[in-house]
Formats: sequence, structure tokens, C-alpha cells
Amino acid sequence: MNKRKILVTSALPYANGSIHLGHLVEYIQTDIWVRFQKMRGHAVYYVCADDTHGTPIMLRAEKEGITPEALITRVHAEHLRDFTGFYIQFDNYYSTHSPETRHFSEDIYNKLKAAGLIAVRGIEQLYDPVKNMFLPDRFVKGECPKCSAKDQYGDSCEVCGAAYAPTELKNPYSAVSGAKPINKSSEHYFFSLSDKRCADFLRQWTCEGDHLQPEAANKMREWLGEAGENKLSDWDISRDAPYFGFEIPGASGKYFYVWLDAPIGYMGSFKNLCERENINFDEYWQLQSDAELYHFIGKDILYFHALFWPAMLQNAGYRTPTKIFAHGFLTVNGEKMSKSRGTFITAESYLKQGLNPEWLRYYYAAKLNSTLEDIDLNLEDFVARVNSDLIGKFINIASRCAGFITKRFGGKLVAGEQYQALQAMVDEHFSSWRPDAIEQAFEDREFSAAIRQIMKFADEANEMIHTLAPWEIAKQPDCADDLHRASSLGIQLFYLLSCYLKPILPGTVQQIEAFLYCEPLTWPQLGADQSVSSLLLPAGHAINAYQHLMTRIEAKQIDALIAANRQSLTAPEPGSPARHAEKQQHTGVAAIPIAETISIDDFSKIDLRVARIVNAEHVEGAEKLLKLTLDIGNEQRTVFAGIKSAYDPEKLIGRLTVMVANLAPRKMKFGLSEGMVLAAGGGNPSELFILSPDSGAHPGMRIK
Ligand SMILES: [Zn+2]
Repeated sequence: MNKRKILVTSALPYANGSIHLGHLVEYIQTDIWVRFQKMRGHAVYYVCADDTHGTPIMLRAEKEGITPEALITRVHAEHLRDFTGFYIQFDNYYSTHSPETRHFSEDIYNKLKAAGLIAVRGIEQLYDPVKNMFLPDRFVKGECPKCSAKDQYGDSCEVCGAAYAPTELKNPYSAVSGAKPINKSSEHYFFSLSDKRCADFLRQWTCEGDHLQPEAANKMREWLGEAGENKLSDWDISRDAPYFGFEIPGASGKYFYVWLDAPIGYMGSFKNLCERENINFDEYWQLQSDAELYHFIGKDILYFHALFWPAMLQNAGYRTPTKIFAHGFLTVNGEKMSKSRGTFITAESYLKQGLNPEWLRYYYAAKLNSTLEDIDLNLEDFVARVNSDLIGKFINIASRCAGFITKRFGGKLVAGEQYQALQAMVDEHFSSWRPDAIEQAFEDREFSAAIRQIMKFADEANEMIHTLAPWEIAKQPDCADDLHRASSLGIQLFYLLSCYLKPILPGTVQQIEAFLYCEPLTWPQLGADQSVSSLLLPAGHAINAYQHLMTRIEAKQIDALIAANRQSLTAPEPGSPARHAEKQQHTGVAAIPIAETISIDDFSKIDLRVARIVNAEHVEGAEKLLKLTLDIGNEQRTVFAGIKSAYDPEKLIGRLTVMVANLAPRKMKFGLSEGMVLAAGGGNPSELFILSPDSGAHPGMRIK
């Protein structure tokens, strides 16, 4: 196999807001593609960063009474936590406010300037005389020049849809200070996109080399106009102080516009990774690079990535992108995400409500293709599809067959003649289970097609298991060989399905690898002359006992998620007076004296682990106890916890908590308790609060 060198990016999220399910369409899509390529053994790097510059960041920090640096540091941690929670595995998640991004911004600017592609001219702009700053379009408000609707932004009217210049607004006012803005002229720096060199290059780049999807290429032709026609205008790349960003070299008080350094942040993040891991940066970015470079973006920022970005790189002597993969937007229940309907769902709330991130990864994958079409998260269909496909068709195969292997055959799959018989069966009935079609679909980002194919295989597996019915065979005398072969077949088919699903369900497949007691699954490689049976686990392979792998989604979990996101609208903003008042309230906890001092060595004897509550149920005859099944990464534990008075067991399922993992097991009347979960309490039995790690933590992580 030819080992490819691939660098992949997702668009940089802006550092003044939370990650929501709309953002995740892109990161999940990119992550699936990257994981697939990594599974195939290619050298792939996936980098991203927070986009940290610009007026909104500056003003928000000011409003919170902190520095922009403090704001972007906090938001960076929040973003990374949310991405990690959804198994988005960046090789580097960096910041555009970095020395590397500054270096490349200056470098590219200087090269463009040397090439005669930077122009300076004066422009008239609205200026806030109270704040002493020029106002970006979104920071001027006033009456629409077309329909006279009040309180419209400086670029377009939300009532009649008209687009206009901020200077056309009637009765304009500054959204920052409320003052009436004045016209003021200032010198701005422009990237001369209208230069013939840029237009000629972009026209050629659009037509040759398949860099853009057909819809995107059409858009580009529209922007570029006919040959000979020059529809491109120069791009204003400077902003006046005060501005949070990089000052332009040799231009005091002028800063690079945030959209100049945002894509350069891809280079900055990669450079940072290269330094850390000793990768040759130039191999990926020099003009004659043989590495592939892919940018996953939303269709709304095509303009920046398909026009400005390649033109800047080309004229500064760097390679240009291999392909730009644009995608559509997310709708929820067929409508735009809405805060009042509770469908503007943040990544954090999804995880905090205890919903499994892989449910969403799977659902998005089932909807995604390579076009710019929007995708819809229909919440009812989400529940139905995940339960039917993942639990009903996939996980069930293992849960129906594994018990026989463990109880009757010492955990070993068939060997010898029986293995040959199993192989023959696979080649007779499952010869279509070759990886080829799925591989092509993943490569082409036709994830919905990949999933259709995988689920068709899962249907075939279930049909076969249903026909063989190991649970019926088990009732017959002298059935050992038949039972062993039938249940081994189920496990072998489950293994293959797991390989195909691994890019989408990395967390579950990690548990499956532990269950199947095998090396991390790689992408099945099958030569044209090889049969499917050559992909199977070896004869006599031993597996571990089956442990619960995934729970069903309950409709009420979705209801709770919607309710939580609707409520958050009325929650006070950080820093608002209501929040301060809340902080000063007394908690009513009686003062319990602090216990005797211990040493760090005493403390470190306690092995605390993050645990996912995969099941919780009442215990018959127990007044206070709930029986919890806890997943701590590589194993599952049963713990009896005295929290019945405070928790409805169903509400606990899926949640993360903290357990003492090295507490001696305790024999209780109802069974063996293999640890303890931590809870806070003040003595009143209904006042018990189990602990949760911040979202993003994984089962098995040690707490120190
Ligand atoms: Zn209007």
C-alpha cells in the first residue's frame, strides 16, 4: 500500500462562544474521515485551533472585566473539553494567538507586499466618538434604509433581508456605546485580489485538479465571472486600533483583520505540532509538496477558503489546498436551531445530560454525504435509528452469542475442523462482506452510504443468527459443535462489523477490543484474490466475557436535553448581578469540622477513577441501595450505593461519576460490591449529591 501523507483541518471555532451541535457536524465529519485514514495506516495529522482575534473578543473581554488573553485561554479549555467529550481527536488543538501564527501572518504579508500585491488606500468608515474606535458592520445599528425596521445591523436587515453598507442606515448608533457614529477616514491595507495574477490563478485552480465540489466550483465561477471579466475586488485586510490581533509590520496602529490570520492558524497549529513531534513542516507546505492538504469547512466560509486563501498561499510561495470539503448546516426537527424551542443544544449540555456522544456521531454519519446539503437532526428519528441500528442490529449480535462462548467453551472460538467449516460458511453466505465498497464510501465522505452498507451486513448477520438460533441448539443433546460454531460465527461477524464502524464509534470499539481481547482494530485489507474468511479472528481465539457495551436512548432523555437548553436562556449570564447574588447565598450546610491531616502518600493510596454508570437498578428488598454497573474503561464493576433516597435509577444511566476503584470488595446481603461511588451529603437522606467530572472526562481516567 502507498503510504499517503495527509494534513487535515476543520474550520477554527471562534473564541467567544460555546460549541453546539451545529459545530459538531463538521468536527465529527472530519474526525470520522481522519480516523478512517489512520486505521488504514496512512500518515495523517488533524490540526485545529481557536480563532481568537477581532473586535467581538476584545469587547467581550472588556465586558467581563478580563483581558482578551484570559478570555481566550478559558474558552480554549472549554472548546477542547467539549471536543474531547465527542471523541474528536486532534493531533493539535492550538490558538491563532500564537507566535507561530504571527510568524506566518507576517511572512505571508511580507511576501505579498514584495510581490506588489498589497495596496494602501483611505476609506470612510463609521467611527464611535465615545469609544474612540471604528465600528465593524455588526456593531452599528439603526433603521433599515429599505423598510425602516428599527434596530437592524449595519450589513443587512433581518426584517426585509436587504443588504447595504452601514453608512446607509437611518439614525445609526454604535452598539458599543450607543453614541451616534461619525464618518471618519482611515488608511486601510488591501490584498490586491483584483490583480490579474490572482484572477488568472483562481480561474485555473477552480477548473483544474478537482479542488472543489461541483456546487462550490459553480459558486467560484459566479464570483470570478467570465474569462476576461474581472469581478473580484481587493480585500481589506487591516483594522485600526483598538483591535485584538497582530499588528501589521511597519504599520503602527494597524492590525491584521481576523480573517487574514484565521486560515494561517492552520499553518501555525501544524508548525507547533511539527516542533513538538519532529515532523518536517516544509514537506507539507512547500510549493512542490507531495502531501495532501484538506480543509473541512461550512459552506458559509467558502469565500474565504476558496478565494482568498489559495490566492494568498500561491502568491506567497506556499502550496495550495488539495481539496476543500464544504458541508451544509444543521437543522433540528427540520428547522433552524432555536434557543426558545430548546434546540440550540450545546455540546456541554448534551454530555452533562449523560447522553452518549457516539449516538450523535452515528446519527450524523448516517446523514452525511459529500455535498453541501444541510442535514437534519430529527430527534424522534435519532432515538429510533440509534436504538434500532446500534443496539438492535449491532450490539445485539455480541450479546446473543457471547454467553455461550464464555459459559460452554471456556471463552474460546472454534478451532480446527470447526473453524474451517465456519470459514466455508462465511465464504458461502457472506462473500459480499468485503471492505471495498465501504472503504470507497468513507474515502469519498459518503458516510451515509457506508452506513447503509454496514447495516445491510448487520441485517444479514442477524438473519443468519436467527436461522441458526444458538439458543435453540443449546437445548438439544450433543449439540456442542453446532452451538460452538454458530455462536463463534456471530462473534466473528460482530468483529468485522466493529472494524467497519470503528471510525464512527471509537469509544465503543475500544471496549469491544477489550471484549474480543484483540489488538486495536485496523482497516481490513483484502487482496482481490483473498476471500472474506481470511479477515476473521484466528482459530481458537479467546475472548473475554461480554460486558454491556451501549445503552438504548430513551425519549425522556431527549426531553430533558431540550428542557435543559430551553432553561439556559433564562440562566443569568456570567458576571451579571443575579449571578453574584447567587454566589453569596448561604448554603445552609452545618459546619462539620475538617478531619485530621493526612499526607499526600495517604491520599495517593486511594485510586479514584472516572466511571460511567452504564446501568442502575433497584435492589429487591433493599431500602437504601441502588445497584450500579460502572464502566471504568477496561472493566465493569458492580457497586451497591446507598443513594436510593436521592436518585431515580433511570436518571443515573449514562452519567459519569467518580468511584474508589481499589476499595476491598465487600460481600453484602444482595451481592458483592466492588468499590464505592462518591457523594456529598449533609445528613438529610434526600440531600445526597453524587460527584460528576467535567464533561470530556472518560471512564477509567485516574483522579489525582
Ligand atoms: Zn429592512
